[in-house]
Amino acid sequence: MDSVHNVGSLSYVSQPVSIREFLESWQSALADEPIVLKRLPKTNVKQIAGIMNVSRSTVQELDTVCGIDTLKCPGQVKVRDDATSTIPDDTELVTLRLRKSELEKRANSKTYTHRLYATFRNHRSVMRTRVPGDKLIPMTVRDVVISVQIYRPFVGEQSCKYKPLVLDQELRVLGQQKLTDLRDAITCVADIALPVEMSVNPDMPVNTRCKDIYPSGFFYINGTFFNDLRHPEAKDLSSVIRTWGATRPNQIGEMREAAMEDTQFLDLSLRVGLPYLYVHQGDCEHLIVFTDIRMMNIEDSSDVSKYPIVSSNVSKKRTVCIVCLLYNARWVTYDDCLCSQSPAFFCDACFRELHYDSSGTKLGPFTAYRFYDKNAVLP
Ligand SMILES: [Zn+2]
Ligand SMILES: [Zn+2]
Repeated sequence: MDSVHNVGSLSYVSQPVSIREFLESWQSALADEPIVLKRLPKTNVKQIAGIMNVSRSTVQELDTVCGIDTLKCPGQVKVRDDATSTIPDDTELVTLRLRKSELEKRANSKTYTHRLYATFRNHRSVMRTRVPGDKLIPMTVRDVVISVQIYRPFVGEQSCKYKPLVLDQELRVLGQQKLTDLRDAITCVADIALPVEMSVNPDMPVNTRCKDIYPSGFFYINGTFFNDLRHPEAKDLSSVIRTWGATRPNQIGEMREAAMEDTQFLDLSLRVGLPYLYVHQGDCEHLIVFTDIRMMNIEDSSDVSKYPIVSSNVSKKRTVCIVCLLYNARWVTYDDCLCSQSPAFFCDACFRELHYDSSGTKLGPFTAYRFYDKNAVLP
């Protein structure tokens, strides 16, 4: 499949990185280092002098001559944020002009400021996963930390043609973990949706979720379909694709199949930056992108049971009712004779007011399903 996408020519995609070889090469390089990760002690002049085989006075002189203080200009004061808020009118510096324009926008528009800070808040990524204030616990684990981005699913062929991809979650997994650990950490409302059309009786009791009925899913990574077959009723969703691919061996290349629950990330070779695929609920397709592969360091949690760690839940836009434009949508209708768009989203009150008479009888043809807004019901 790599040849179809001409992966080798994509500048933002790395060469395949074998996670096991990556780990082993670092373990080999760090063989003489203590396995316990801890903060380095403060620079010891005597120790450095010994390593460099020079006198202590030479090290102290180097510290003075090459120290970070030499980068400062004479009389330079520490820059504070409020010091950059007062900008002269006659400045020629583009950076200052842009800064001034930005500050004016924030001062003149509360909406702009609100959106700006919402963007900062929603797109923040947790760099440290160790709990702040914790004592440094000696880490006996030496493993690879892999960062992965999960994108919102495609809604349909026509929609994805015009809509940009939306980043939904960022997670960190360990090399020793299995692909099923990643799958279980991915949250999608398609899993918790109710699999029943409810337009005739919106109050009918339904206790079954889609994931209970359709537990199957797979990752497609480097020509292999990793199927989740833990559930006794899980199916190999990839079989129809592999059958199709087998008729085009020269175009598509070999397609393999493996068990998701038997595969560790250490068993994989990953290209950083290349979109791979996660499919569940039959046709809910998420692109996933591995963005970083590195050794665990002192800023990572040493509690292996915490992984996969959610480092960022990016998408925070809620879906609001198209009638009141106020409350979260709780119903979605299709082919709705009372609405010009399909699908259409309604809050509970507007849905019932618009679609049923006083005796609860359905008005006109439409189909209705319960709608779960991810940002309202999932962490
Ligand atoms: Zn999904
Ligand atoms: Zn409403």
